[in-house]
Amino acid sequence: MAVLKVAKLGNPVLRQVAEKVNLNELKDPKGELQNFIDDMIDTMREEGGVGLAAPQVNRSIQVVVLEYENNERYPGEPPIPVTVLVNPVLSEFNDEKVLGWESCLSLVDFRGLVPRFTSLMLNAYDRQGNKIEKRASGFEAVVLQHEIDHLNGKVFLDRMEDLTQLSYQEEFEEFWLKKDPAP
Ligand SMILES: [Zn+2]
Repeated sequence: MAVLKVAKLGNPVLRQVAEKVNLNELKDPKGELQNFIDDMIDTMREEGGVGLAAPQVNRSIQVVVLEYENNERYPGEPPIPVTVLVNPVLSEFNDEKVLGWESCLSLVDFRGLVPRFTSLMLNAYDRQGNKIEKRASGFEAVVLQHEIDHLNGKVFLDRMEDLTQLSYQEEFEEFWLKKDPAP
């Protein structure tokens, strides 16, 4: 159990394409990947994130963790149980995009209005190496797109279409909160 240091924007690790995880190493009970995944979950919880990608803790491999329950930055969304995704791939995006305010542990205090697909297909492995295949929509689909972007060297700023909709948290609460198009 350990809380890992979070890489911030400017750290080149956030701009690299992460390497696929070897599933035999993942399944090895003596391997260190299981400890690393536990540390990622601890770090996500300690930092108050709803998701964390391995490059955000300085390791360029394709692992993502998610968990959501009444996070103060995203009030009122349906809960997501703690989830570990290894080598995740998104596909079959629907045509519709929705704008929503996002934040990122690697961008500290920024919030930005980001267009995301509202429905997609997720293919991945869990931490035991079992296949996951599911359709995701709504908030979960947004979180998946945000986190899996990190595995491809992208941050939410890259997805924004209008940088005038980028704000610090304090100014977001003062000037933008009531104008949120996706309440
Ligand atoms: Zn992020």
